[in-house]
Amino acid sequence: MTTKRVYITTAIPYVNAPPHLGFALELVQADALARHRRLRGDEVRLLTGTDDNSLKNVLAAEAAGLTTAELVARNATHFANLHVSLQLAFDDFIRTSTDPRHQPAVARLWRACAAAGDLYREWYEGLYCVGCEQFYAAEELDRGRCPEHETVPERVAEENWFFRLTRYQDQLEALITSGGLRILPEFHAREVLAFVRGGLQDFSISRSRERAHGWGIAAPDDPDHVIYVWWDALGNYISALDYGTRGDAYQRWWLEAEERVHVIGKGVLRFHAVYWPAMLLSAGEPPPTSILVHEYLTMNGRKLSKSLGNAVDPEGLAERFGADALRWWLLREVAPAADTDFTIERLAARANSDLANALGNLVNRTVAMVNRYRGGRVPAGGPGQLASRLCRLPADIDAALAAFDFRAAAGAVMEAVDAANRLVNQARPWELARANRSAELDAVLAALVYACRSVAREITPFVPDLAARIVRQLGDGGAEVRSADPVQPRLGPAHGGEVRGPQQAREGTAMPGSAQSSSGSPSKTGPVGSRLAPSPECCSIATVWRRKPARSS
Ligand SMILES: [Zn+2]
Repeated sequence: MTTKRVYITTAIPYVNAPPHLGFALELVQADALARHRRLRGDEVRLLTGTDDNSLKNVLAAEAAGLTTAELVARNATHFANLHVSLQLAFDDFIRTSTDPRHQPAVARLWRACAAAGDLYREWYEGLYCVGCEQFYAAEELDRGRCPEHETVPERVAEENWFFRLTRYQDQLEALITSGGLRILPEFHAREVLAFVRGGLQDFSISRSRERAHGWGIAAPDDPDHVIYVWWDALGNYISALDYGTRGDAYQRWWLEAEERVHVIGKGVLRFHAVYWPAMLLSAGEPPPTSILVHEYLTMNGRKLSKSLGNAVDPEGLAERFGADALRWWLLREVAPAADTDFTIERLAARANSDLANALGNLVNRTVAMVNRYRGGRVPAGGPGQLASRLCRLPADIDAALAAFDFRAAAGAVMEAVDAANRLVNQARPWELARANRSAELDAVLAALVYACRSVAREITPFVPDLAARIVRQLGDGGAEVRSADPVQPRLGPAHGGEVRGPQQAREGTAMPGSAQSSSGSPSKTGPVGSRLAPSPECCSIATVWRRKPARSS
C-alpha cells in the first residue's frame, strides 16, 4: 500500500459560548478519520481551532461585560479542553485572534487576490444578520426576520471590498464535475453544482472598522476596513501551515499533500465549496481535494442550539458516560445523510448493546476461556472459521470511510464481533473441553483471540481507550492473556435516568453488574437526564445554505 500525505481540518466555530454536541460530532469525525488513515500508514496532519474574529463574539462579550479578548479566551479554553474529554488526537489548534501565524497569512491571501485583479471597492447596501454573519436578500427572510435566528437583520449601507467570484464560475464547475474537488455525500455535490450553475455573484469581503467594533484583521493597505470574518476564518486552513511565509509546513501539507480534506457541517457548505476554492484559485494556490459534510444533531426534531434551549454539553456527556460511549454513539448512530435525533437513552443503549454486550462480552468470554482451559496461554493458530469475515473487515471500513460513512464503518466492525460471538455459541468450547477435543478447542480459542485483536485494532479510531483496554487484556499481542475483567461497563441507572438496552445480553459469560432490561427496543422519547448541565450554544456552523442575496449598487 502506498503511503499518502493527508491534511484534515474541522471548521472553526465561533466562540461566543462553549461548544455543544453538534461541534463535538465534527471533531470526533475528523479525529476518527485521521486515526484511521494513520492506522493505514498514511502521513496525517489534523487541525482544529476557533474563529475568534466574528462580530458575534464582540456582541456576546459586550453582553457579558467582558472585553472581546477575555470572552474568546475563556471560551476557546473549553474548545481546546475537548481534546481531553473526547480523546482527540489533534496536531495543531489555531486561535484566529492570537495565533501569530494567522494575520500575515490572511493578509497575504488578500494581497494575492488583489494582485490577480479580483478585489474592488463598491458601495453596498443590504440586510445583515450578525448571528449568521452574512447578508440576506429581502425574499430570503421570514416576515422580515432571519429564518435561522428569528431576529431582524441590520440594514447596512457602506462602501465595501468585493471579491470577483463571478470570474470563477466555470473553474468551480469544472473542479467539482472532474472530481478534483470531491464533495460527500454526493447529494451535497449536486446541491453545490446547482448553486454554481445558477449564477454566482461577487461577495463583500470587508466591513467598516466602526461596524466591526474595531475587532478583526485590518484590510491590507486600507485601515478603515476590517476583513470579512469568513475570509479571515477560511484562511485558518493555510495560516496554520505558515502560508504567511509560504514556509515548509505549507509546502509539505498543502502543496505536496495528496489530500486536503475539510470536514464541515452542512450549514457552511457554500463558504467551503464555493468561496474558499475560488479564493485559492484567485491566489494561484491549489484548492482542497475533499469536502466532507455532516448533517445536524437534533433533539426532539429540533436543531441543537442555545436559542432553542436544547444545547447539550459534550464535556458533561463524556464525563458521565465516558468518551468511548459518546464517540461510539456519534460515529455508529449518526446518519450520514439526514439529521439525527439525540437522546441520552439512545447513547446509553447503543453503548450497552454494542460495546458492553457484544464486544465486551466477546472479549470477556474469550479471555476467560483461554485462562480456564489453557492456563492463560494463547493456542497457536489463525482466524480459522472467521478468516473471511476478518480478512475483509479492513477493506469494508476503508470503503465506508472513503464514502464518509462512519455508520457503515462501525457497522462492519460489529458484524465481525457478531460473527465471533456466533462462533462461540456454535462451537461450544466448554463441550470441546469436557470431551477432550483438544485440537478443535485450540483452533476455536486461537480464532477468538485473533478476532478480538483484529477488532481492537480496527476499532481504535472509533473508541481509542476501549481498544487499548482490549489490547491490554489480550496480553498486548503476546503469548498470554491477562485475567478477565469487563472492558466496557454497562451504563445503567447509576449514570442517571432510566437506561434500557435494545437487546438482551448474548449467551455466554454475563458481564458483572449488568442490569438487563426486558425491553426489546430503546425508548425514543426519553428525557434528557437531569445531571446534564444546560449549556450555552454556540457556533457559527449554524448558518444555512442559501443563495447569495442580490447586491444593490
Ligand atoms: Zn441569522
